[in-house]
Amino acid sequence: MSLIKINNSRCKSCYICVNTCPKGLIRKSDKTNRLGDYLVEFEDKEKACVACAMCAKRCPDLAIEVYRGE
Ligand code: SF4
Ligand code: SF4
Repeated sequence: MSLIKINNSRCKSCYICVNTCPKGLIRKSDKTNRLGDYLVEFEDKEKACVACAMCAKRCPDLAIEVYRGE
């Protein structure tokens, strides 16, 4: 199963990843950063992540790591 990890301390809440994931697996979280902007979270109940890394490549703050599963 592939997955991503999001580093909240790097995230600037630009939401590029939310709009980039072709599977719609990243969404705004209830948690906020220091400026009060909502962070993002990854949810993949149906194991749909294909480890394409588009989210990580487009994140301007290098806040996303992708782990490719079997
Ligand atoms: S690696 Fe691809 S499918 Fe997985 S969360 Fe990122 S953009 Fe979505
Ligand atoms: S693209 Fe990066 S900085 Fe922007 S919301 Fe996503 S994880 Fe945060």
